[in-house]
Amino acid sequence: MNFDLPAELVDLQATVRKLAQERIAPRAREIDVTEEYPEDLFELFVETGLTGLCVPEEHGGSGAGILGLTIAIEEVAKYSNAAALMLLLTRLPTGPVMIAGSDELNRRYVTPVATGDARAAFGLSESQAGSDVMGMRTKAVPDGDDWLITGTKCWMSGVHQADWYCVFAKTGPADSRAHDSVTAFIVERSWPGVEVGRTDRKMGVKGVDTGELILDGVRVPPGNVIGEIGGFRLAMLGLNSMRPIVAARGIGLAEGALMYAVDYVKQREAFGQTIADFQGIQWKIAEMATEIEAARLLTYRSAWMADRGQFTKEWVPFLSMAKYYATELAVKVSGEALQMLGAAGYMQDHPLELYYRDAKQLTIVEGTSQVQLGLIARGVLDRDLWWD
Ligand SMILES: Cc1cc2nc3c(=O)[nH]c(=O)nc-3n(C[C@H](O)[C@H](O)[C@H](O)COP(=O)(O)OP(=O)(O)OC[C@H]3O[C@@H](n4cnc5c(N)ncnc54)[C@H](O)[C@@H]3O)c2cc1C
Repeated sequence: MNFDLPAELVDLQATVRKLAQERIAPRAREIDVTEEYPEDLFELFVETGLTGLCVPEEHGGSGAGILGLTIAIEEVAKYSNAAALMLLLTRLPTGPVMIAGSDELNRRYVTPVATGDARAAFGLSESQAGSDVMGMRTKAVPDGDDWLITGTKCWMSGVHQADWYCVFAKTGPADSRAHDSVTAFIVERSWPGVEVGRTDRKMGVKGVDTGELILDGVRVPPGNVIGEIGGFRLAMLGLNSMRPIVAARGIGLAEGALMYAVDYVKQREAFGQTIADFQGIQWKIAEMATEIEAARLLTYRSAWMADRGQFTKEWVPFLSMAKYYATELAVKVSGEALQMLGAAGYMQDHPLELYYRDAKQLTIVEGTSQVQLGLIARGVLDRDLWWD
């Protein structure tokens, strides 16, 4: 057993840490206030090769894998969860293509994301079908060799910036709940019938909008089917392999929040000593530090597993644990850290109220905490996770 990161990932961590401290931290509050997409940070990610981290070298990336992207996102999320989401979006919509798409699809759609020539977004959820994915109503009907897709996807992160969308639609009967009734497609933004709809007014992670994608009889050629017709399993494989990457947004946020609060309590005085001198505060710090390290271990292990292709059903509990634990921890630590600053923590002069608002998103996206608990429990009941 070896807990050391490989040398190239240690270098990556140091590089992204410096970038995050010098270029991303100073922008975080402004992004939150203006709610404007930080094009400068996107360009920074492109220039530094971070958009291609998770893409194999043969498709134009650097091949650092899911662990590489996890480490980079952890560093960025210490200062800005919006910027961390921008990096996550290099993998969420491309994941299904890398897992099951043809070489041609990878070349046409994944390579431009790696090089920063294109952006993409992921369309699974619908207003009536979030956790209950099979309740989706977006429909793809055959028309000659092509497919015609109609429906509305919602809460889609990065919908405005995307050049293409990974969209899931029913290819089986509309009311079917059978997994082979859903198929993944790539839909280009510029195609007739594709329209970005309503933008959501959200609580946190501002700057990277979420919103609707309206598809009205969009003609999709057969080559743009990702994997097989009826490949709903692909959605799950894609999401399973994303668990460490979402978890990284949680651990980075928790680390950033705790570090900020610790620096504050060491200099803030009350009752003739600093706040850090109180044992009650020290124990809080110790508890949070312990839980952060536990979450990091779960997250790194899940990334290591995902890079080995261990994101099929039997590995789900390990992946879901990382997402569940790290994102719930982000909410807990950002709340406790804010509390350690008292009134100052509640004000926009400090970043903790921003961390607190951003953290809540993480327990909802890509499978809520309750959905993760269901998956973990199923794994234990099925003995995919068992200890003898
Ligand atoms: C900021 C943001 C960005 C997002 N970005 C994207 C994106 O890019 N692409 C995309 O496709 N989607 C995106 N989503 C949607 C997200 O994936 C869904 O919100 C999520 O899957 C939950 O679905 P829901 O909101 O419909 O909640 P519901 O499914 O309606 O759930 C409501 C509540 O019930 C609980 N619940 C549901 N089922 C169960 C159960 N079986 N047992 C116990 N409790 C249960 C849930 O945990 C939740 O607390 C985004 C959401 C947000 C908030």
